[in-house]
Amino acid sequence: MRHQGEEAVRHRAGLTAGDSLGALMRVRVDMTLCQTHAQCVFAAPEVFTLNDDDELEYDATPADASWPAIEQAARACPVQAIALGED
Ligand code: SF4
Repeated sequence: MRHQGEEAVRHRAGLTAGDSLGALMRVRVDMTLCQTHAQCVFAAPEVFTLNDDDELEYDATPADASWPAIEQAARACPVQAIALGED
């Protein structure tokens, strides 16, 4: 059973219930804007991490269940470096 938040993301993306978000949607971070505030890491730790050099690393094609947290991460980013969109 899908998480309710996941369905909301699917609806906003114009996808039907059978479509996989991960098949169409991608996460992109503009690393020229990113200042490693790590708000995204707190919001979606399964997708965004800081490596040993305090540089942001992320999964550009995360699992469907992660998308509600990713939307939260994008809203939380103080420099709006996170873009969500179709491939
Ligand atoms: S919240 Fe924004 S600025 Fe901070 S690490 Fe994430 S993408 Fe970079």
